[in-house]
Amino acid sequence: MKESQRLLQALMAENVSRIGQLEIVPSNGGFVLCHRDDVGRNDLRNGEIDDAFEIAKFDEAGNYRPLKTAPNLRRGWKIFARDLLQVEQVIDAIYPGRLAILHAFKSGQLTSTSLRETLNRQSGMYRIAAKISDEQIDGLVGNFCRSNGGCLRTILWKRDASGKTASSKLPPEKFDPAVNQYFSTAMPATAATESLPLLCQEACNLLVAACRDAVKGESAAPLAP
Ligand code: SF4
Repeated sequence: MKESQRLLQALMAENVSRIGQLEIVPSNGGFVLCHRDDVGRNDLRNGEIDDAFEIAKFDEAGNYRPLKTAPNLRRGWKIFARDLLQVEQVIDAIYPGRLAILHAFKSGQLTSTSLRETLNRQSGMYRIAAKISDEQIDGLVGNFCRSNGGCLRTILWKRDASGKTASSKLPPEKFDPAVNQYFSTAMPATAATESLPLLCQEACNLLVAACRDAVKGESAAPLAP
């Protein structure tokens, strides 16, 4: 059994059965995975393990989901996994890499990279992203990464080497792996602790691209007619 499966096994023994918008329910000697908001529905379409990739790809309206941890996982399906290996395969298809990162975090081996460091190492067309101001970062990250409508990950990275928080516009629970980000906007933070966190150890490419756009937008502004 791989470390990530061992971690899953231990967590499920403690009734931790949620990750992001996924719910994992023991059933018939295996597990059923579905959208958390679909638990209890009996009209769900049965899917195979491999269908998870397709499920993760498009939202309810059929739009491509560039950010797999955005809170727009589509509903209406369920997948039976006969063992933890298959559970892991489904989770990895829907939230790529998150179990491995969680394992690294739990074993104290996860390091995070500050946003400034990530931006400073960009090359080519993204090099300009490093010119983003602190004020722009504050607003951009506060909007782009927010759990309500943005991204369900818990931010572990800092803004810069001084350890400044990623954005003053985000609530403290956005940085707390013990808090369930899916419900944190709708329910009190303390209401949901039996959930696996989706961790963000380093700014994603989409945020880097948004930083670039912010810089370009501002530098382009004086040229606009
Ligand atoms: S930087 Fe992290 S928290 Fe922000 S949108 Fe990207 S993956 Fe989500």
